[in-house]
Amino acid sequence: MPHVITQSCCSDGSCVYACPVNCIHPSPDEPGFATAEMLYIDPVACVDCGACVSACPVGAIAPETKLTGKQLPFIALNAAYYPERPADVKLPPTSKLAPVLPAPQVRRGVVDLTVAVVGSGPAGMYAADELLTQKGVRVNVFDKLPTPFGLVRAGVAPDHQNTKGVTRIFEGISERSRFTFYLNVEVGKHISHEELLQHHHAVLYTVGAPNDRRLNVAGMELPGTGTATETVAWINGHPDFAGLTVDLRHERVVVVGNGNVALDVARILTADPDALARTDISSAALAALRNSAVREVVIAARRRPADSAFTLPELIGLTSAAEVVLDADDHALVQQDLASATDPLTVSKLEILAKLPVASQTAQRPRIRLAYRLTPHRVLGADRVSGVEFRRTGTDEAVQLDAGLLLTSIGYRGAPIAGLPFDDAAAVVPNRDGRVVDPATGEAVPGAYVAGWIKRGPTGFIGTNKSCAMQTVSNLVDDFNAGLLADPAARPALLDKLIRSRQPDTVDAAGWRAIDAAEIARGDAEGRPRAKFTDVADMVAVAATAPEPPVARRLLAGLLR
Ligand code: NAP
Repeated sequence: MPHVITQSCCSDGSCVYACPVNCIHPSPDEPGFATAEMLYIDPVACVDCGACVSACPVGAIAPETKLTGKQLPFIALNAAYYPERPADVKLPPTSKLAPVLPAPQVRRGVVDLTVAVVGSGPAGMYAADELLTQKGVRVNVFDKLPTPFGLVRAGVAPDHQNTKGVTRIFEGISERSRFTFYLNVEVGKHISHEELLQHHHAVLYTVGAPNDRRLNVAGMELPGTGTATETVAWINGHPDFAGLTVDLRHERVVVVGNGNVALDVARILTADPDALARTDISSAALAALRNSAVREVVIAARRRPADSAFTLPELIGLTSAAEVVLDADDHALVQQDLASATDPLTVSKLEILAKLPVASQTAQRPRIRLAYRLTPHRVLGADRVSGVEFRRTGTDEAVQLDAGLLLTSIGYRGAPIAGLPFDDAAAVVPNRDGRVVDPATGEAVPGAYVAGWIKRGPTGFIGTNKSCAMQTVSNLVDDFNAGLLADPAARPALLDKLIRSRQPDTVDAAGWRAIDAAEIARGDAEGRPRAKFTDVADMVAVAATAPEPPVARRLLAGLLR
């Protein structure tokens, strides 16, 4: 029985290299890898060895016979990536094994290559991993929160616990001897870019895209408007959003935009709170959801069904987890699009949409309605939101929807970094394959690099950041080997002193582990994977209880610094 990749595929490619018969594609060297919605196992070539199961960081792979009912559509989805052929006809082998991309070879010198990575989300952790494949490299990872792993902790929806399993890889990376965490330290506030450069050869920013794109229509200032991304952060207990007021006293929520974030929010707002109570959702959000009056979340897209921004795996996941409906008019649009669609992924999405129940049927539980050709025009309401007025896209026809809450989910935006150039239109730091470039001169900015969303914009999945980070690290190492990066002016041990003088509440790896253990223990008592702290002061207090490392280890760490 062949193995099958399912919804939580993170696309980091780990399974590709574990496969002894090269039957998982696209592989990182193939065109389309960077934009693939997921990876697929060729059911004819799979030898059922299970090596990919152990390699997958997010538990997305299972033998066909072990799939749950909800995962069954992924059998056809994996197979559909490969050309149809008789069951015993294998594809001509392109190569016996997927070619492993060579790790950058760091030139050993008197001084170790020392890199500051700013941001401990997937791009930062994958960059640290790639750097630490070599001897003679030290990596200091900074994060402004006392807890690491960025959007894996604060962005991945709590009902996607498998996806959060990728943190096991990140934990392993953080345990390497030449890796140091400086958590609860904000670059730009506690330490500047220039100061980091005095202590490192290079500063690699992996700070993501922290802001939302804002919808520019009248009424967006009214209470009852918000963004899906801040709602996701509230759901996930991010300290900056823990106190957010998400008003769920009304029957309908409208979400503008239909990307995967919109699906995440709609799914959580309509989920059974008892099921969410078994996840690591923030306790405040869970309490609010238990008292929710919401009966319908409308996901409003400005374009047609064939242009839906959500991915096929996430649509499959949504329809198996929630009650999803479509208006009769939108069903007609789906049929029109099906008649002309040729791209197999689009056809598959449309086929799923075509089978959804019509919205006129009575709902048994809170439901999600996918709606199309609705361009936001203005927010309705006197002192708070009472609805949204759209224009039927391409026409003057006004369409009004009553709603007590309007969430925009129209993408993230990168924010400028002090001391570096910024491309305001693309909301990224201008760069050539990760090397920061001054747009005025076209020259590389010495010692400055980017990876992840601040480099390429807010697209892709967790694992997409692995190849993105590898490209940046490869260029950084080339620059180091070519002698283009100045040796740090300050002695390594001084960095620790400087940071702790500026931020006495710096949290190190031991501190984070204390927070982690305390959250898991609190969760255990409630039958949950963890119960998160949502207040920085609480996190810092728990971090302070971390046992001091033994003297011998401290001495060794001091020597390595
Ligand atoms: P996204 O996929 O870029 O979707 C943005 C949506 O906003 C699109 O529907 C877009 O419509 C719409 N939009 C943009 N400007 C608009 C405007 N002025 N008025 C109305 N609608 C507007 O963004 P996202 O959902 O924030 O996701 C970001 C990335 O994270 C994506 O790559 C996503 O796949 C990834 N992600 C993945 C997962 C997962 O795998 N589980 C979960 C969350 C996020 P148009 O298409 O018409 O422009």
